[in-house]
Amino acid sequence: MAEKKLILTFAPGQVNSPITSRMARDFDLDVSILRAEVNERGGKLIISLSGTEDGICRAIEYLEGLDVQIDEVTKFVVRDGHRCTDCSMCVSICPVLAYRLDRRTWRVMFEQDLCIACGLCVDACPAGALSRGLMLTQTV
Ligand code: SF4
Ligand code: SF4
Repeated sequence: MAEKKLILTFAPGQVNSPITSRMARDFDLDVSILRAEVNERGGKLIISLSGTEDGICRAIEYLEGLDVQIDEVTKFVVRDGHRCTDCSMCVSICPVLAYRLDRRTWRVMFEQDLCIACGLCVDACPAGALSRGLMLTQTV
């Protein structure tokens, strides 16, 4: 089973197209919408795809054919370990529990793979230890 998190940017005319349901049906993928924003300039979706490598590749080809901008979420958050005070603010604010407090060491641990790039922790960190880093890599 393979998994990929993508940021899809749509033009205004594409916003109402049933793109994610088609990807699920035609390429036999589980498609989770992690975040969605729509405004007059178009739409942005952060989605997680899971299924076969081949299914994910074919889904990306399908999106490319629709002229949707595709970026892959790789490393949205960079933590500066020298600045971090292990205050746990990020633990309580992250909606997907990407941070956890190790109660043996009282250090805050971070699991990048869980991150859905919402940005809440970066804005909330009182020590300025978090930044938007190597946020995206263009898929094509
Ligand atoms: S909010 Fe910032 S300082 Fe506090 S534990 Fe998280 S990264 Fe460290
Ligand atoms: S950007 Fe959002 S999802 Fe990612 S670690 Fe920070 S709070 Fe969690």
